[in-house]
Amino acid sequence: MNNKTNYQYLLSDLSTLKGVGIKTKNLLKKRNINNLFDLLWKLPKSYTDRSLSSKIKDLKIGGIQTVTIVPQKYNFPRVRKLPNRVLCNDETGEIDCVFFNSYEGYIKKILPLGKEITVSGKIGHFRNKYQITNPKYISEDSTLIKQVHNKYSLTDGVSEKIYNKILKQILSNLPDFIEWHSENIISKFQGISWNKSIKELHKPENIGNYKSNFYQRLAFDEIFSTFLVNSQIRKKIKRVKKKNKIININKQNSLIKNLDFSLTNDQIKSLNEINKDLSSSNKMFRLLQGDVGSGKTIVSLLAALNTINSGFQVALMAPTEILAKQHYNLGKKIFSTNINLELISGKTQYKEKKEILKRLEDKKIDIIFGTHAIFQEKVIFKKLGLIIIDEQHKFGVNQRKKLSDKGGIDCDVLLMTATPIPRTLTMTIFGDMDISIIREKPKNRKPIKTYSKLEAKIDDVLKFINKQIKLDNQIFWVCPLIEESKKLDHSSAIMKYEYLKKKFPNQVSLLHGKTDLEEKNIILNDFLNNKFKILVSTTIIEVGIDFPNANVIIIENANKFGLSQLHQLRGRVGRGDKDSTCILMFKSNLSDNAKKRIKILKDSNDGFLISEEDMKLRGFGDILGFKQSGIKNFKLADPIHNSDLFLLAEKEIRRIEKSNEDIRKFKPLIKLYDRADIINDIN
Ligand code: ADP
Ligand code: MG
Repeated sequence: MNNKTNYQYLLSDLSTLKGVGIKTKNLLKKRNINNLFDLLWKLPKSYTDRSLSSKIKDLKIGGIQTVTIVPQKYNFPRVRKLPNRVLCNDETGEIDCVFFNSYEGYIKKILPLGKEITVSGKIGHFRNKYQITNPKYISEDSTLIKQVHNKYSLTDGVSEKIYNKILKQILSNLPDFIEWHSENIISKFQGISWNKSIKELHKPENIGNYKSNFYQRLAFDEIFSTFLVNSQIRKKIKRVKKKNKIININKQNSLIKNLDFSLTNDQIKSLNEINKDLSSSNKMFRLLQGDVGSGKTIVSLLAALNTINSGFQVALMAPTEILAKQHYNLGKKIFSTNINLELISGKTQYKEKKEILKRLEDKKIDIIFGTHAIFQEKVIFKKLGLIIIDEQHKFGVNQRKKLSDKGGIDCDVLLMTATPIPRTLTMTIFGDMDISIIREKPKNRKPIKTYSKLEAKIDDVLKFINKQIKLDNQIFWVCPLIEESKKLDHSSAIMKYEYLKKKFPNQVSLLHGKTDLEEKNIILNDFLNNKFKILVSTTIIEVGIDFPNANVIIIENANKFGLSQLHQLRGRVGRGDKDSTCILMFKSNLSDNAKKRIKILKDSNDGFLISEEDMKLRGFGDILGFKQSGIKNFKLADPIHNSDLFLLAEKEIRRIEKSNEDIRKFKPLIKLYDRADIINDIN
């Protein structure tokens, strides 16, 4: 195999390396290092320069030094706890090599009497004599010792020596690929090649040199490969030829006329984009992104109406049954009676379910609402034309792709999310889809007044709540969920519930992670129907459910949440036309940084802007749990510090898409960085 240009070399098994046995291989696997390429991102943390050696008389006590010596005599005392010693010298003086817990046989092997041996380690002093204790760097071959030794974080259980050994092997066999980037791109990094960049990256003197051209180039490669794969997935989906839907604008407009509000400009714009996709002969794979309460549901139902009027069926999937039911109810309210709607849930009886499935297959149902159950194997549609998926922003690229395949050729796909994300992350997380954005809030919305309050002032809060209850308003009381300590949260929510129950008898209910599904549905329904006033919960209040009568949210221990999360929680209120309030509670006085954070929330109600600020303050992985959703785990690239590279990559991808450039030249890049199935197409 020609290692020099072949990416396969980097994908080969760890055991191809000298010095990697089963044990090391398994240790590395535990760290998700499965092949040589993965090892390339194991970077030195620091280094020790052992290249200069001195004579014994010039040794400095306390420093790490290298010295070539000749073992003269073993001193292995028979008394336990006393160390084994090897008395050594050179022509200028004497030094002892001291070993605790080492076998005599081993010592004799590494320090044979009369031979010149090079050792390196920390120089000590004992009873007027130099000594070196448990030296790890010992060899007859002085060149192996006299060099710069990289230090690696050793949590993996693999020693520094092994890392040095195996990385050196990989780097000396590193392929030198034909440049895959365009001249314009590569000139931004002073033309440095991938091969050269990797080598520079591993040089210990380059540790932390984030601004360098090699670091930037490699970060760009990472970002670009992710975007490219996403773009290819999108292209592949759009290549699917489907039967186009015929939009009946009159029917659409007469439904809109009957709504008790008028659509915002962004709602209309998004609907037009969706309609254009529906009526094209390419499959739609679109994301409708908009802040909580921006009115995505109605847009999706209008798309559903157009699909149905064109002779197709629609499936709307929500993350919870309550939300599915809320959408179903809205559909029932706005659609005319000749459209057949159905709701399927876990509670639907077997017989009824069977009957629903039969009617779906016979196309007696036009639109079905439900949770993921509507995509089970058994569910067969006669003529499915549109899948709407609500609030599934945590679906990864693969899950989305599967869903889109499942609907069949003629089925368009619309995803909805109320999770605004920073601009730089859009291509990373949703790059496989086309995107419509609703930024504008409905006109009747009043801003949510946001206050911060010390917990010690809880009496003020209680007084405020009392007033709200008298006005027949409802209140969310949120106790934070701290990942590390589920038990603690659980009890803090219960305690708050007990406390509030005493203050407001018969007006409080509790929802926490251990509430079972059926009970949860009952509680949420009762709250929706204003049967009680205060809902105490951990953060599990469902996304998406519309509680028009709730206009106050209290968030305890607010500093435990990120800004985006606080914004999303706050978005649970303020749907109706009443004044609404969000009170952020804190245990102690706010630090300056915390004050800054809170000010952003108080000043803005724009989820996109808040998400940008949140990312700057907390790092991107933390934003609303995207880390768990299969979002690309970048090794070098960082959406905060490399935002320019993200934008550059996006621009380059658009250029490639437009020019229909042959992407085969990116094969090594994609094979190495993403290993996505999609690339099987580009052999
Ligand atoms: P989300 O985008 O969070 O899913 P919803 O679709 O649940 O938001 O809409 C929230 C509320 O706003 C609903 O009660 C809905 O009827 C209402 N709504 C939607 N569009 C408008 C509008 N243009 N003007 C006024 N109210 C609207
Ligand atoms: Mg919604």
